[in-house]
Amino acid sequence: MKKLVSLLALVIIITQVNAQLPRVIILATGGTIAGAGASSDRAGYTAGKIPIEDLIGAIPTVKKIATITGEQISSVGSQDMTIDIWKKLAVRINEIIAKKEADGIVITHGTDTQEETSYFLDLVIPKAMPVVLTGSMRASTAISADGPKNLYDAITVAIDPKSKGRGVLVSFNEGIYDGREVMKMSTTFTNAFGSPNTGAIGHAYDGKVEYYANSVRERDPNSPVVIKADTKLPRVDIVYMYADAPPDMIDMLVAKKVDGIVIAGVGNGNFNKAYMEAVKRAVAAGVIVCRASRTPSGRVLLHDEINDDELGTIVSDDLTPQKARILLMLGLTKSKDKKQLQQLFFKY
Ligand code: ASP
Repeated sequence: MKKLVSLLALVIIITQVNAQLPRVIILATGGTIAGAGASSDRAGYTAGKIPIEDLIGAIPTVKKIATITGEQISSVGSQDMTIDIWKKLAVRINEIIAKKEADGIVITHGTDTQEETSYFLDLVIPKAMPVVLTGSMRASTAISADGPKNLYDAITVAIDPKSKGRGVLVSFNEGIYDGREVMKMSTTFTNAFGSPNTGAIGHAYDGKVEYYANSVRERDPNSPVVIKADTKLPRVDIVYMYADAPPDMIDMLVAKKVDGIVIAGVGNGNFNKAYMEAVKRAVAAGVIVCRASRTPSGRVLLHDEINDDELGTIVSDDLTPQKARILLMLGLTKSKDKKQLQQLFFKY
């Protein structure tokens, strides 16, 4: 009887300790972290095969630091990421925040477009709790798979009070990156991510999280654009510039009546004479044209080699073309005024 009472007391103590653990909801979207290959010694795999429960099962000690719940949002390789999945994520995250269902959120995601999802979410969800994306470069079946460690680290980042108010973060290979700045830098290496303009803002190592930098970009407590399930986003496309590029793509997009075009220009957002004429045609047709750069670091300056006032263009500042597209899509839901749109690029 005595033994039973002490056992019961122990169970109650453990339950109380668990009840005090921070709550983390993992929203799984697919990617290599949930990928399965034919054998452990082959790099080839199919993305998004492993359910979230199995990913959590691979890091049993996480139960000591957090109460984890998993939800499958999608099961795609992130090359197939869609605006619909982004909306689903945004709607669910807003709900988790409103109902205080968790203390932190982790999103497992393929690495190919992780930098786009991180920036999109950064712009559309309030900074009420840490939201941390992670993924892996090796499938779950590979030798020395990096997914379990990345997932564990992302959870430690999500439950660390120092992560709050920083906007959406990416935790990868022990680095912590600002969701606005982060970029996939290697097609195959396990240290696949970096922030070319700012570097990592912190580290997750051995269960501990340290930050060394803060973003100076706007971190509104409330998001600038509220995404609902039926929100329609304008169409913005990206056109790549290269030596002797013909202007056909720009003209084709204008004929398709897109709302915006981001040019992945060369250097300081430059393009050739053929593009210049096509951009004039696009602007005359009412399309917002944003000059960005295919060069991975630095910024695109207004009125440097190109006079934007004369041409009617705006610039991406230091956003990559793929991130500039996202800000332009969201900005266009609010205004078509070029001056206002330009200001967004200097603020967010
Ligand atoms: N193609 C995969 C994806 O983005 C690559 C990865 O996850 O590492 O889903």
